Amino acid sequence: MSPDTPGRVALVTGGSRGIGAAIAADLHAHGYRVAATSRSGTAPDGVLPVSCDVTDADSVDAAFCQVEQELGPVEVLVANAGITRDGLLARMKEEDFTEVLDTNLTGAYRVIRRAARAMTRARFGRIVLTSSVVGLLGSPGQVNYAASKAGMLGMARSITRELGSRGITCNLVAPGFISTDMTDALPQKVVEGYLERIPAKRLGSVDDVVATVRFLVSDSAGYVSGAVIPVDGGLGMGH
Ligand code: NDP
Repeated sequence: MSPDTPGRVALVTGGSRGIGAAIAADLHAHGYRVAATSRSGTAPDGVLPVSCDVTDADSVDAAFCQVEQELGPVEVLVANAGITRDGLLARMKEEDFTEVLDTNLTGAYRVIRRAARAMTRARFGRIVLTSSVVGLLGSPGQVNYAASKAGMLGMARSITRELGSRGITCNLVAPGFISTDMTDALPQKVVEGYLERIPAKRLGSVDDVVATVRFLVSDSAGYVSGAVIPVDGGLGMGH
């Protein structure tokens, strides 16, 4: 167990696969007691699997109750669950917009609001939201997704102003192009277009993201809040 993380309880939403599963596994490996939530309710080895749909406030409450019972109050929250419903604006249906906002942004609000009670009582909390380079850079075909990820910035900074005096931090990690199920769905042409624009000249891996999240949730990062940390090989520089 790391001396910096005395067995703190962490909950990672969207922890069944991809970036969230990697974050959950990494925190477990570093001495945290970790729960991973998702609709499918699967989790990496050593991590408590919990079913939870972030679009449903009752489901979120039930998931937190289960984690509180089995592990204790949540001290570290990684709001990572996210979806895409890409399409050009002219053809984007309103439900594609609202569904993405409801999962990515309102979903983050639901879990943060539920977590904030115990964090405020404990006068300690670490909240990290998985945003995206696309939130500040924009992306054709992702008006819904970019809006949801940009909205996280105002959310994190408002939470920092509301709860900063209670020992609670709230930050964004903004990954670039990371190889997961989400990006595997993209056409090869789009992938090649990204590769040309990434100064690191490679796609990112989930391991590139986990170290940054581990820092942001650590006890020693208590004076870092309202920040956006890009993990994008330089793709979003200047934004
Ligand atoms: P994946 O599609 O691999 O994983 C998404 C995760 O979110 C799954 O665990 C999924 O589980 C969960 N999820 C989706 N909808 C819901 C819901 N309604 N309630 C609860 N859980 C849900 O995506 P990635 O790992 O690639 O992405 C993770 C996060 O990182 C997302 O927020 C994404 O926007 C962001 N990101 C990804 C980038 C990339 O290049 N991959 C770049 C920048 C940001 P289940 O389906 O079982 O519910």
